[in-house]
Amino acid sequence: MSTSTSGDVVKDGVHYHQFDIVIVGAGGGGMRAAIEAGPNANVAVISKLYPTRSHTGAAQGGMAAALSNVEEDNWEWHTYDTVKGGDYLVDQDAAEILAKEAIDAVIDLENMGLPFNRTPEGKIDQRRFGGHTRDHGKAAVRRACYAADRTGHMILQTLYQNCVRLGINFFNEFYVLDLITVDDADGSTQIAGVVAYELATGELHVFQSKAIIFATGGFGKIFKTTSNAHTLTGDGVGIIWRKKLPLEDMEFFQFHPTGLYGLGILLTEGARGEGAILRNASGERFMERYAPTIKDLAPRDIVARSMVQEVLDGRGAGPHKDYVYLDCTHLGAEVLETKLPDITEFARTYLGVDPVVEPVPVMPTAHYAMGGIPTNNDAEVLRTNTDVVPGLYAAGECACVSVHGSNRLGTNSLLDINVFGKRAGNNAVEYVKTAEFVPLPEDPAAEVRTLIETLRDNSGTERVAALRKTLQNDMDLKAQVFRTEESLTEVLGTIEELRERYKNIHVDDKGKRYNTDLLEAVELGFLLDIAEVVVYAARNRKESRGGHMRDDYPKRDDDTYMKHTMAYLTGDPHSSDATDHITLDWKPVVITRYQPMERKY
Ligand SMILES: Cc1cc2nc3c(=O)[nH]c(=O)nc-3n(C[C@H](O)[C@H](O)[C@H](O)COP(=O)(O)OP(=O)(O)OC[C@H]3O[C@@H](n4cnc5c(N)ncnc54)[C@H](O)[C@@H]3O)c2cc1C
Repeated sequence: MSTSTSGDVVKDGVHYHQFDIVIVGAGGGGMRAAIEAGPNANVAVISKLYPTRSHTGAAQGGMAAALSNVEEDNWEWHTYDTVKGGDYLVDQDAAEILAKEAIDAVIDLENMGLPFNRTPEGKIDQRRFGGHTRDHGKAAVRRACYAADRTGHMILQTLYQNCVRLGINFFNEFYVLDLITVDDADGSTQIAGVVAYELATGELHVFQSKAIIFATGGFGKIFKTTSNAHTLTGDGVGIIWRKKLPLEDMEFFQFHPTGLYGLGILLTEGARGEGAILRNASGERFMERYAPTIKDLAPRDIVARSMVQEVLDGRGAGPHKDYVYLDCTHLGAEVLETKLPDITEFARTYLGVDPVVEPVPVMPTAHYAMGGIPTNNDAEVLRTNTDVVPGLYAAGECACVSVHGSNRLGTNSLLDINVFGKRAGNNAVEYVKTAEFVPLPEDPAAEVRTLIETLRDNSGTERVAALRKTLQNDMDLKAQVFRTEESLTEVLGTIEELRERYKNIHVDDKGKRYNTDLLEAVELGFLLDIAEVVVYAARNRKESRGGHMRDDYPKRDDDTYMKHTMAYLTGDPHSSDATDHITLDWKPVVITRYQPMERKY
């Protein structure tokens, strides 16, 4: 045993650290938790990215809160919209918390120094967004607080600056690859810490802690066409899964209507909030047919489906009739340059199209995971439908609380990370006041060491990039906006084959320093695990609801499926057949005031 230059203890080449609370992830969710926890406990934030590179920084359009700054609004309407937007699979007690605490969440950020856009009187300005309405669906309402189309960037910078001010300990470019758990005789799980791989050195670090908060973000990279950053490979969700803890509602993935055609780069819904219109090849404003009341501002699942339907019906634009247009030309250069500068530039740079004078080709892009690590309203991770894992928390996109149900409303995620990140931070502080450290097992890094060495030393012939591409292509073709039993069975077959081939993977770089080659292989393992759960759960849900559209079961079926999916890893995780290792169960939806109704917009 020795002590390294940074003060941590080194034993058998592994670094050991001890903190009251470890937060995995330095996006909005993780850093919001750190700001609550930091002043009250000994906290470390571990992040595979430098904090300000987290995907929260890419968020564009806004953060919802019924502030009533520009027109009448209240949190009850916001709750209703969230429940209806989520096609009634939302836990309504959680949605109420989200909408109520939204107001303080925005004011907290304002007090931390976030430069929101302002009204002429100096109040925080608000814009329209899909599915957010006045008085239970009467008309679109201005509820999204924003900072141009860089709202996420401003949130992430503001949170990071405040973490620095509070002296939070950051371990950047550290990849957490395992959660250290100790199973009690009665079958309950205790957590003892996490194991991380340091990118710069290739060394392993064990962080012993009393409480752990997962805030590792989404997993859009299971798809090819996605708005998500390359790093969104779902590691946190994958770690929880491998620890045989459940995952909730994984079949529900959101396809955002306006991805740049062929690329998937996002054009914020804020554009439609400012008045942009979707048109088909003949210039028709087709959303008038699908959602007569709020048209282009219907929730994303409805708009994305309508766009694909237009293309399937032969009304798509372009030489292959395979996209529709986002028309911003009537907004004028000033609105575009001041309120939507980034997306205006994206269209110019990536498609060579100037939104000021011509409509932009768009199609849906994989955007947001509604499902994830199940938690209760205190952000505690569930081990069963009711029991929690003491000291383990999750918040943000990796978690499923569930405020988004089967379809998230735009601007509700930046809100979710702030509300439930804050809750996770506060509850973890309360927990560590009385909790003890759980003793570490003899060699806590053993599993990660084996994983890394097996991948690095494997003499196989399969290439990471080739496997990843096959997965992503197939997910786009067969598990995207429209799904069927047949298409899902096919993609499940592809995943099984890829899981077999993955055992034979080859990593070129055998070195220790900055071995991103190796980490991409690790990430691919998580992508395959997660994609399998997504598709398996999707095949099991024989109805259409929110982001999950089954062409062979086009109707919502409340009698059979008004319940959350809970997926468990129960068998041999190395068997290639999903039926051998995944067990699906259900969890009731919490319904308080809004009985499920047909969704009309
Ligand atoms: C282009 C785009 C635009 C969006 N616009 C909006 C919007 O306008 N409004 C809105 O409400 N929502 C928007 N969203 C959604 C929203 O931004 C995200 O859902 C939200 O920011 C996720 O925050 P998070 O903290 O959960 O995760 P992230 O911000 O993704 O952070 C994840 C963190 O986890 C860390 N991490 C992951 N794996 C590991 C590991 N193995 N070890 C260590 N660290 C790890 C990463 O380093 C990172 O710090 C947008 C999303 C995208 C992609």
